[in-house]
Amino acid sequence: MKLILMGAPGAGKGTHGAAIRERYHLPVISTGDLIRKAMQAETKAGEQAKAFVSAGKLVPDEMVIAMLEERLQAPDCQKGYILDGFPRTIAQAQALEEMGIVIDRVIDLEVEDEVIVQRLAGRLVCRECGATYHIQYSPPTGANTCDHCNHLLSRREDDEPATILERLRIYHEQTEPLRDYYASRGKLYPVKGQDTVEATSKLVLAAVGS
Ligand code: AMP
Repeated sequence: MKLILMGAPGAGKGTHGAAIRERYHLPVISTGDLIRKAMQAETKAGEQAKAFVSAGKLVPDEMVIAMLEERLQAPDCQKGYILDGFPRTIAQAQALEEMGIVIDRVIDLEVEDEVIVQRLAGRLVCRECGATYHIQYSPPTGANTCDHCNHLLSRREDDEPATILERLRIYHEQTEPLRDYYASRGKLYPVKGQDTVEATSKLVLAAVGS
């Protein structure tokens, strides 16, 4: 099974991707994670991506398509996968088709902009294991350390207030048109964000088909 998890930054793609992974034993491929790893490793692509990411802009299509194409060659992707944060433009969706990849369903997480801003502004991440927390809604047990691996938590550079607004603007402008793109192909499964993660997860899993 091949799925796409679509939604604004902070809509919960990471959280619900993990729930689908648990149920279906499929890898979650996040292009945001691939890009952050390349930046940390200071590869050529990582260096080129830095300015785009920290300004809240999209990394150029060719760069992110190449990274994804390489990742999808790995053995763990043979039985299917969940794409988190890809495609983000029509050109990226077309690139998937050109690679001969047939997507089964696109789960579209719908969350209002005000909620997104609140969530991202309070988000803390563990750079070691990728766990995420929220200062108010799901704080870590310790002062500022990860419950799983004890590393120090920090704010993502692109979760600064001005950058959040730019990421949302770009989402509406460049990524939202993908709704119509996949709806016209009969693949779009919209899920409205609920008050609790558990309630949204139930709807997500139902949309996936369980
Ligand atoms: P994310 O972790 O999915 O929020 O991604 C973090 C940042 O990585 C985004 O704000 C973009 O700068 C970049 N990025 C991730 N995925 C893509 C993509 N599919 N196309 C272009 N840029 C991306």
